[in-house]
Amino acid sequence: MDRARDLRVVVDDLTRDQKKSDREVEQVRARRDRDRKRIDEGQITNPKDLERMTHEMVSLERRISDLEDVELEIMARLEDAQSDLTAAESDLTDLDEQIAATTAERDRRGGALQGELTETEAKRVAAIASIPAELLRLYDKVRERQGTGAAMLRARRCEGCQITLDAGTLGQITKAAADEVVRCEECSRILVRTDESGLIGRS
Ligand SMILES: [Zn+2]
Repeated sequence: MDRARDLRVVVDDLTRDQKKSDREVEQVRARRDRDRKRIDEGQITNPKDLERMTHEMVSLERRISDLEDVELEIMARLEDAQSDLTAAESDLTDLDEQIAATTAERDRRGGALQGELTETEAKRVAAIASIPAELLRLYDKVRERQGTGAAMLRARRCEGCQITLDAGTLGQITKAAADEVVRCEECSRILVRTDESGLIGRS
């Protein structure tokens, strides 16, 4: 950002220098042309004046050549600075485009997340509606303490606290009716029974 601004100052300075240098070259050329015209038209009759003016012509040509070299050097530097400035401005444009793209992507993701959140909340409301109020209260109470209110009973183990249930407890759970709420004695979580629970007499 600062680089582009600095380069713009350099380009402006060199542009001004080049114009000044060009004016100097033109002034000396005009003087040379005027003198040559006087010589060519035979206006200088005095041989001494003629000799002096011929010398002056040589020195004017040298002066023009020097000034032209200076101008060429300024022009070369101006060209370099101009191309650096173009590159720096192009970098700035790229940066602006990156910022715009990143902002758009962030907004898009934010929108998608908000959509997912709304969807998940709606699912939760629908799921809760089908759960008896008493069971939901129990679930929320355990969740408040343990982080989760229920755990899978898999291969005779409570997946909430990872404890393996003893045979007596397993026997009781096996006998319990399917709609009875059974809980882990260790962590109090509601145990979710499945075919993989490892219950005696059930596959
Ligand atoms: Zn447990």
